[in-house]
Amino acid sequence: GKGAAMVTAVAYRLAAQQAERQRILDTLRLSREQLVEVKTRMSEEMMRGLSKQDHQQASIKMLPTYVRSTPDGTEHGDFLALDLGGSTFRVLLVQIQSGQRQIVDMHQKIYSIPQEIMQGTGEELFNHIVDCISKFLEFMGMRGASLPLGFTFSFPCRQSKLDQGILLKWTKGFKASGCEGQDVVKLLKDAVSRKKEFHLNHVAVVNDTVGTMMACGYEDPKCEVGLIVGTGTNACYMEEMRNIELIEGNEGLMCVNVEWGAFGENGELDDFCTQFDRIVDECSNYPGKQRYEKMISGMYLGEIVRNVLIEFTTRGLLFKGKMSERLKTRGIFETKFLSQIERDRLAMRQIRSILQHLGLTSTTCDDSVVVKEVCSAVAHRAAQLCGAGLAAVVDKIRQDRNLNHLSVTVGVDGTLYKTHPHFSIIMQETLQDLAPQCQVTFHKSEDGSGKGAALITAVACRVKDRGDN
Ligand code: BGC
Ligand code: MG
Repeated sequence: GKGAAMVTAVAYRLAAQQAERQRILDTLRLSREQLVEVKTRMSEEMMRGLSKQDHQQASIKMLPTYVRSTPDGTEHGDFLALDLGGSTFRVLLVQIQSGQRQIVDMHQKIYSIPQEIMQGTGEELFNHIVDCISKFLEFMGMRGASLPLGFTFSFPCRQSKLDQGILLKWTKGFKASGCEGQDVVKLLKDAVSRKKEFHLNHVAVVNDTVGTMMACGYEDPKCEVGLIVGTGTNACYMEEMRNIELIEGNEGLMCVNVEWGAFGENGELDDFCTQFDRIVDECSNYPGKQRYEKMISGMYLGEIVRNVLIEFTTRGLLFKGKMSERLKTRGIFETKFLSQIERDRLAMRQIRSILQHLGLTSTTCDDSVVVKEVCSAVAHRAAQLCGAGLAAVVDKIRQDRNLNHLSVTVGVDGTLYKTHPHFSIIMQETLQDLAPQCQVTFHKSEDGSGKGAALITAVACRVKDRGDN
């Protein structure tokens, strides 16, 4: 009868909608061949970044860090550390005793950096940083103290020594004027002189990946790679000096900051990008830049999800086709929601309450299922892409050492990696698949940016003292 025909029509429409959603989600799925291609292109670009001839054009900068060895346990002393460029800004006091690898005493305080300072002038930003150091010293009862400082500055810097770092470009949410092309140690020291409350003698500039590798290397000598999957993403590893054409000398190793977030700036990822990636890129602080990072890291995954949901809604495939102002708001999908929504044992009812919390009211249970599927597709792709990049890094180490088999540890940090329920597993599966001759152990690092930076500063001071005498 008529009723049955209507039921059939509804069922048919639902099936058609489901198929349309799948067709869109399929654009976010990568085949094995595509992942192999990502790894291959990443390897090529890494070679180009290292080579004198191609460095200028290469999207991946392979920056020398002047860190020549992982810690040997003799490091010691009291250090300040700054951690700028991740999800929080921190000032730390790190006390290291030599010969006792586990004993590192740390005190830290988190300070906020208001949006208007992140995007104001460089002078305002560095004044603010120095104010926070002052407050921290005061809080620790160390007013006016002058300690060596490890500056974990999580942006691409060109270094010609440890205590200098020319900011190549801002990334993520930072946009303070007058800093690009400048030495961040000088910017910091100038702000300290303006404040006239304490002195800074030794400063080492440290990328967060390098700090993470060092902190982890303190406990595990096999740790020769650092990985960050947080607000941004990046990796570093110990490279043979003879392969680093930008600096003299062929002996030994040096840590190279890959700056892989910039991969794709020469179009290397265009084949794999979706309309959503293009929108997220265009609406970002730096269109055209950090394309790989924009497909992987916490600052952008939520935006990709939001744009898929907008597309679904516009096509009447979600939220009954009702577009809300909330959904049109940039940044509502924070990393923590992505992680929460995908938590395995989470009932649909709870997803609904997260969506309601996001202001996406009047959702149905089916909507929750769809939202979860979108989150899952976006995170899955991110983890696979990250695994493909890491496969290029570890396989390079293996090949450089002429090994059939490499066993290596990766020190890793970052909120997305640490909080997402599936990211690390998917990443490791991809890595295993694409670099089968490497056996990779992951070591979560708690305080790379503090402990690692202090260890590097300790080495720097040792070298300097030796030089001064
Ligand atoms: C920066 C890297 C940093 C990474 C993780 C990227 O945006 O360019 O220097 O290591 O974020 O914080
Ligand atoms: Mg960090």
